[in-house]
Amino acid sequence: MKLAKAMQEKMLLSFELFPPKTEKGMANLPGTIEHLCKYKPEYISCTYGAGGGNVGANREVCQMILKAGTIPVTHFTVIKNTKEGMKEQMDQYLAEGVDHILALRGDIPRGETTTCGDFQYATDLVKFIKDTYGDRFEIAVAGSPEGHIACRSLESDIAVLKQKQDNGADYIMTQLCWDMEQFKRWLDMIRQAGVTMPVDVGVMPILDMKATINMALSRNGCVMDRELSRLISRYWIFPDPFDSNPPFVDEERERKLADFKQAGIEYTIRQIDAYRALGVNGIHLYALNKWKDVSEIVDRTGLRTLI
Ligand code: FAD
Repeated sequence: MKLAKAMQEKMLLSFELFPPKTEKGMANLPGTIEHLCKYKPEYISCTYGAGGGNVGANREVCQMILKAGTIPVTHFTVIKNTKEGMKEQMDQYLAEGVDHILALRGDIPRGETTTCGDFQYATDLVKFIKDTYGDRFEIAVAGSPEGHIACRSLESDIAVLKQKQDNGADYIMTQLCWDMEQFKRWLDMIRQAGVTMPVDVGVMPILDMKATINMALSRNGCVMDRELSRLISRYWIFPDPFDSNPPFVDEERERKLADFKQAGIEYTIRQIDAYRALGVNGIHLYALNKWKDVSEIVDRTGLRTLI
């Protein structure tokens, strides 16, 4: 199935998983996928560790997704990858029935100034896949509604997105964006720039304060809107929510963690409503391998029950 075509006809629902680092985590993942598949997602994607360190686990997860009866979309980055190495991996994916790929550059390794591989940008990777495999892979690419953290300007970042389309990309998966006004501006700007690819919106459920702050600020420079900032302040764990060995674990701390999660779920639901109201082509939930919380969000948004 071509997802870009399906997205033109209706709004898709999909999930993103990551390959667990432990054997126990891997053993539990088929159960998680089974629960998520009850919602009949059009696809489930699986992240790829920069440098390809976890490619074996990524391939295993793709097979679990295939076995569960939905389409696996593998993420793929150029970090520390040679052309030959990339071709070898892509041949393997195709041989194993994985023909949907999210073509990414990946983050520059710490202490380096280049990708340490044969390509420097995702545009090169899209061209390589298209030149080597024609239409055998359906190609998704990343889009950053606030502009990628290293871009010179939003306009130059959008020109890169247009280049990805010209090189053969089929649809966009977006970086998380809590600033809805900025998202709308970006959507107008990409359409004006001639980007016609469907937009599948990445949504990270707000479940954990540390993970939320980390995801927003450690690499992506995402703006938090007033509502989210206030939510974080309201449930702040004093003195330091990042302390992994807090001096005491008390009832108040536990209650705050649980209350933050509940308020975060409410926030995520409102965010999904806002994206749907804009008529986006898909909702891609970063499921974080947590099926229970994600199920609550899908159920309460009515993503699979409302027309
Ligand atoms: P690019 O599109 O190549 O852009 C990178 C920067 O270079 C931008 O600032 C862009 O404006 C600039 N640029 C691009 N082309 C040119 C050019 N020709 N000349 C000058 N400047 C240029 N990372 C992982 O490691 N594993 C994952 O599984 C993963 N999954 C992700 C899933 C999604 C949905 C998203 C949005 C991101 C994901 N990432 C993942 C993170 C991603 O790898 C990083 O954001 C990375 O820093 C940029 O990747 P990109 O494909 O957007 O890069």
